[in-house]
Amino acid sequence: MAENSLPSHSRRMEAGHRLSVLVPRPLDGPLDYRSDRPLAPGTLVRVPLGRQELTGCVWDSQPTHLPADFRPSSRGRVIAFEKLRSITGVLEHVPPLPDDLRQFIDWVAAYGLSAPGMVLAIALRVPAQAGSMKPAMGWVRKPGPLPDKVRLTPARRAVLAALESRSPSSTAMLSEASGASAAVIRGLANAGLLEECLMEASSPAEQADPDHAPPVLSEEQAEAAEALVAGVEERVFTVTLLEGVTGSGKTEVYFEAVAACLKQGRQVLVLLPEIVLTAQWTDRFERRFGIRPAVWHSELGQKTRRETWCAIAEGRQQVVVGARSALFLPFANLGLVVVDEEHENTYKQEEGVLYHGRDMAIVRARLVQAAVILVSATPSMETLVNVQKGRFRHEVLEARHGTAQMPEISLIDMKAHGPERGQFLSPLLCESIEERMKAGEQSMLFLNRRGYAPMTICRACGHRLQCPHCSAWMVEHRRRRILACHHCEYTQPLISSCSDCGAQDSLVPIGPGVERIHEEAQARFPDARLLSMASDTLTSPAAMEEAVRKISSREVDLIIGTQVVAKGWHFPDLTLVGVVDADLGLGGGDLRAAERTMQLLHQVAGRAGRGTKPGQVMLQSYAGDHPVMKALLANDFISFMEQEAAQRRPGFWPPYGRLAAVIVSAPKERQAEELARLLALHAPRGEGIQVLGPAPAPLALLRDRYRYRLLLRTRRDIALQPLLRRWLDGAPRRNDARIDVDVDPVSFM
Ligand code: ADP
Ligand code: ZN
Repeated sequence: MAENSLPSHSRRMEAGHRLSVLVPRPLDGPLDYRSDRPLAPGTLVRVPLGRQELTGCVWDSQPTHLPADFRPSSRGRVIAFEKLRSITGVLEHVPPLPDDLRQFIDWVAAYGLSAPGMVLAIALRVPAQAGSMKPAMGWVRKPGPLPDKVRLTPARRAVLAALESRSPSSTAMLSEASGASAAVIRGLANAGLLEECLMEASSPAEQADPDHAPPVLSEEQAEAAEALVAGVEERVFTVTLLEGVTGSGKTEVYFEAVAACLKQGRQVLVLLPEIVLTAQWTDRFERRFGIRPAVWHSELGQKTRRETWCAIAEGRQQVVVGARSALFLPFANLGLVVVDEEHENTYKQEEGVLYHGRDMAIVRARLVQAAVILVSATPSMETLVNVQKGRFRHEVLEARHGTAQMPEISLIDMKAHGPERGQFLSPLLCESIEERMKAGEQSMLFLNRRGYAPMTICRACGHRLQCPHCSAWMVEHRRRRILACHHCEYTQPLISSCSDCGAQDSLVPIGPGVERIHEEAQARFPDARLLSMASDTLTSPAAMEEAVRKISSREVDLIIGTQVVAKGWHFPDLTLVGVVDADLGLGGGDLRAAERTMQLLHQVAGRAGRGTKPGQVMLQSYAGDHPVMKALLANDFISFMEQEAAQRRPGFWPPYGRLAAVIVSAPKERQAEELARLLALHAPRGEGIQVLGPAPAPLALLRDRYRYRLLLRTRRDIALQPLLRRWLDGAPRRNDARIDVDVDPVSFM
């Protein structure tokens, strides 16, 4: 790495340049450094901070691309030039962060009231480490005529010939191909015939072929595809909702827009809600376009990440599929962003820097005039309202592809047809599973709850096992022989006596998790081949791939799973879906409980009958009259969403108004409560502005911190961020107490 700095203790006045550098730390904005040469914004540099050295990014001095309201409060006093510390190096071999990515980072920070440096940290996860790695270098022929005095020995000729067929080549590759030694190659370089270059920079990735294997589209599909392609061809920012029933071929349809973007030579980003879905998706992509796309998620190896990052920055990699963090990749010429299953909650990042992947995908696309396609069978209320208001375009697929029909949905009234005590599967559901097995078809049981039992109670004293750090029950995981808190990392071994009264063998599990359903199914169908799918048992994409393979090759009769089974899977022989507890999501009663339950159940129902055989869905419920159940039975998503809208509109609840949660937490309950009350006293006031709370959070204790919540709600035409900023900047500081802000909250815990 270049050492091009002055010693920072130098007292001499030297000519130099003031640089604004954003560092991955929770500060209000960039810091000033000194450099002996000017560096363009986006350049990655090493800088000292305290006693550490960090990778930062040369930043624009003014975020003029942000609305005035959004700009962070003005920066502190300006430090005299001679007191500035010098940068210690430049990451010469790492491509700079492009303008639009820096603007995006400022945007995400301003929108969510996060420190810009912490948002930068997401984008820097790769280059920060790449800086300390030596990049792979190779040789190319230096352009221009042969220098006069060069003697071309046979060994030298062999090297040049080898370079003709493969350029650039590393020293090792060249000497293997030509038989010449490394000294010969070095000699050619010294003689001015070869020059060194980055290996990756000049080896183009294999390109996807837009015409590799296009499908024959149905009339309905072709119409939608045409509209999406037209959107891409406009080369301006547009958002289109592609709404289509499960199995209607939404992926095939948006692949046409991907193809159009590839033909323009622009890049495509496809976001998926879960990384476990990437394997099935990349297979499909390969069938359609002939090669595998780049994949981006947190579980990639460092080397792959680094190569992918550079290839995207240099525009060599055209298609990336990934999780929401892929939004922070340094695309060189992004033309299309697809958000698959746009309604999914997993798009919301809930820890660290809070942001919604779908909403920020739209922001990112707008900054580069790219097209966005939001894809769903059950679009979010936010998106539907944007369609209604004419801000988004809308394409609809009404029919399943080919001969597949929508599944038939029925409800099992558990009050009348419930199972015996201690069991959870209704006899009606079990009969149906048996029939399917006889017919050689597959079934699936869905319960959105990990572990064996959500609660354990002592029969002797009534004590319930609770997490010592959270207000949450300990969940039994029988296979792993532990009790686990699902809110913090706390686990303990299974115990045989009550931790409160000491009674032996008095602890009983209450309610089912998927493990318990698995046990029950095993007892009921001893000959069935069962497979469990839960996010804690299938943790890696590879494990998921193996599970998918088993199902597809019909080595499985009955699948039992949590929400991972509800996703976009396509299993043609799966004809029965049983929902063990359809009412589960309705409790808790947050803003979107009904909407979310509807989306989840619709999605899981959509797994049934995707092939030639008709599908059937059975919902076990104690609440058959609930609007969600009625809508599912009538397959009437639209009226349901209209009812939901009617409930939210008058109180200007999102999406008809804006919402931010303010969470106050402290190690002592009194501290948290006091600060929350003080905040409420100084809350913003005015027409169309309302503050609700403070109230103890539903998760009143989390990781040993007591939590209180306030909600700021405004009319849609009132921007939240300036209100929040003024409010919280003036907030009293208390030792140990913390104030967290969640703009557009998804979780109300
Ligand atoms: P969705 O995402 O809407 O649930 P998919 O895109 O997964 O639906 O499509 C369901 C199945 O139908 C997939 O196996 C897909 O390959 C197939 N399919 C959809 N449209 C076509 C088409 N035009 N030609 C061939 N196969 C198609
Ligand atoms: Zn806990």
